[in-house]
Amino acid sequence: MTEQTLRTGVFVCDCGSNIAGTVDTEAVARFATELPDVVTVVRNRYTCAEPGQNEIKQAIAEHDLNRVVVASCTPKIHEPTFRQCVAEAGLNPYLMEMANIREHCSWVHKDDRMAATIKAMDLVRSAVGRAAKLEAQDERTFPVTDAALVIGGGVAGIQAALEIAGGGHQVYLVEKEPSIGGVMAALDKTFPTMDCSI
Ligand code: SF4
Repeated sequence: MTEQTLRTGVFVCDCGSNIAGTVDTEAVARFATELPDVVTVVRNRYTCAEPGQNEIKQAIAEHDLNRVVVASCTPKIHEPTFRQCVAEAGLNPYLMEMANIREHCSWVHKDDRMAATIKAMDLVRSAVGRAAKLEAQDERTFPVTDAALVIGGGVAGIQAALEIAGGGHQVYLVEKEPSIGGVMAALDKTFPTMDCSI
């Protein structure tokens, strides 16, 4: 990777009162301005909403950002949103990092605003540190064989084969014995009906 001067933008989300009701987001934003390589910090009411995303795009253009840190909710929800957002602004989508200051902070420390705020600062500092280590990634697609091999025709193997087939994929189930069923097939009674297993 060629060395480049890091220019990081930090976006701190209030999530209405979901975050700002507990965490002092203004203090977190002020704190973020002092972190290494941070050139701009924006506090958004709702970062994932269109105005919030536009503020990210505008800041990327205005400040020539090459790293973006969004301090908001879990990446499980909005990582794809913010990756797409920064990509639309011309930045590689993998140069975006998130700090989870909602599920990991405001929601679990509702009764302690001071501690939650300090923790949010730590989470943001960590995210800025991780962002500095990010490298641009290219997405590639490769053809794959749409079929699965399941080895073992016991109960687990049969169930796995059924699930995969249910998903619309070709399945090859391989069993070394003459019949499937494994250990289950050898039981003469099974709970709760006490019927023979076959
Ligand atoms: S980005 Fe996450 S934390 Fe921020 S407003 Fe949207 S849902 Fe709430």
